[in-house]
Formats: sequence, structure tokens, C-alpha cells
Amino acid sequence: PSPTNDRLWLQYNITRYGNAEHLMVVRDITRLHQLEQMRKDFVANVSHELRTPLTVIAGYLETMLEHSEELNPRWSRPLQQMNQQAGRMQHLLNDLLLLAKLEATTPPATAEPVDVAALLQSISNDALALSAERQHGIELDVDRRLALRGSESELRSAFSNLVFNAVKYTPAGGQIRLRWWRDEYGAHLAVQDSGIGIEAKHLPRLTERFYRVDSSRASSTGGTGLGLAIVKHVLLRHQGRLDIDSSLGKGSTFVCSFPLSLTESR
Ligand code: ADP
Repeated sequence: PSPTNDRLWLQYNITRYGNAEHLMVVRDITRLHQLEQMRKDFVANVSHELRTPLTVIAGYLETMLEHSEELNPRWSRPLQQMNQQAGRMQHLLNDLLLLAKLEATTPPATAEPVDVAALLQSISNDALALSAERQHGIELDVDRRLALRGSESELRSAFSNLVFNAVKYTPAGGQIRLRWWRDEYGAHLAVQDSGIGIEAKHLPRLTERFYRVDSSRASSTGGTGLGLAIVKHVLLRHQGRLDIDSSLGKGSTFVCSFPLSLTESR
């Protein structure tokens, strides 16, 4: 045990040999755990400290853009680009802070029933508004009576990331289908797109933070690389699971599954 934290972290690994013999290896991972915690705290603190100065910079940039007619026209484009990059940084910091919060806190004990159908409707309206000129079609096939107990704001973040990804990685005119249903195994949300798809070799690492299939393409789409890591953590906090099925050039389906014990009929 360390002087600062007297909790001991042990990792057990049991291997079976033949019929009767077992080998158990116990590893003390206390130090590793502490280092991981320090890393998480550091990222959260830096993100927090950067937020205020960035808000000031973004605020002034916006004011300058609003009064751009008073400036020399050659500043118009650089200002727009600075404003866009400041927006990306704000998005990144918000995602980092959300991830830190999801990792550091325990899920709320008293979870409210969330109207998932209404949530999906609102998310798809936002997604369509953002990609208006790309003419995507979003089809909703949802059980309106099926509610899920959990945190509405966390579920909104997770489902938004999946729906916005579907829009981002689907060429103009593509189709997106959202399904929400229950069966004997649980309640499921499927986000299916007819987009660019993902090669099978990338699938196991997709929910790692900052993992991107093609970083040059990803930076032009404006994502942070944290979206699916957020989805994974929100699902973990709702006893959920993420399954990804994808085929390169044809499209992808992301399915979130939750235990029936978290569902309610409205
Ligand atoms: P990003 O901010 O880059 O979108 P995410 O964590 O949300 O980060 O996704 C990680 C990577 O997974 C993306 O960079 C992209 O390469 C791939 N990806 C996610 N969703 C889809 C999708 N619907 N279709 C194709 N690729 C996807």
C-alpha cells in the first residue's frame, strides 16, 4: 500500500492444467493503478484550466466576426478559420471533460425512466439540421412505449455520437436507420448507415480514445476521436454493451444493448 492511498489493487489470473491442477498468479498492480489515476487527473485538470482562456479567445473572435465590416477584408478568412479551430478545441475539451467525469464518478443510483424514442427523434432533428445540404434520410423505427432507466444527458451524449458519426461517415444522399426495440435478451438501439464502412481489423480498437481509422480523413470531418470512447463509458454505466458490424464501402451498424431490468413500459 502506498502512503497516499492504502487501497491495494490486485489482479488475479487463474489457468487450468489438466483436470485437477490450477495455477493462480496474483499481481500487485497498485502502482500501475495509481499512475493511471494520475494520468486521468492530469488530463482532467489541464482540460479544465484550458477552458476559461479558450472561452475568452472564442468570445472575442465571435465579436470580431460580427463586426468584420469594420476590419480590413483580408482578415475575414483568417478570422473565420481561427473561429472554426477555436470551436474544435472547445469540442475536444468538452469531450475530454465528459470522459473524465464518466470515468471518475459512480453512476447515479436513482435513475429516471428516459423516453428513448423522443430522445432519438430530437437527436435526428439536430443531425439533419447540421447536415441539411447533404440530404441524408433518417428513418426511425422505434418502440415508443419502451423506456430505459438511466441518465438522460449521458444517453443523449452516447446516442448523439453514434447518430452524428452515421451522418459524418455517410456520403450525401445516404440512408440512416435508427431502431429501438426489445426482445427476450434485452433492449436494443441500432444505428445503421449506408456509409463508407470500416475494415474488420479496426473494429477491436475503435472505442479507444483518439483511435481513428484514417486520421487525415477524420480531421477533415471535424471529430475529436473521443466519440466512441464516450459511448463505451456511458454504456458501461448502464450495464450495456456495444456491438459493431461493418462492411467496407457498404455501411455500418452500431448496436447498444441494455438489460431488460433497466427497461420500463410507458
Ligand atoms: P471521431 O471523432 O473521429 O468520429 P469516434 O470515436 O466517434 O471519433 O470514432 C472513431 C473512428 O471510428 C472514426 O474516426 C471513424 O474512422 C470510425 N467510425 C466511427 N463511426 C463510423 C461510421 N458510422 N462509419 C464509418 N466509420 C466510423
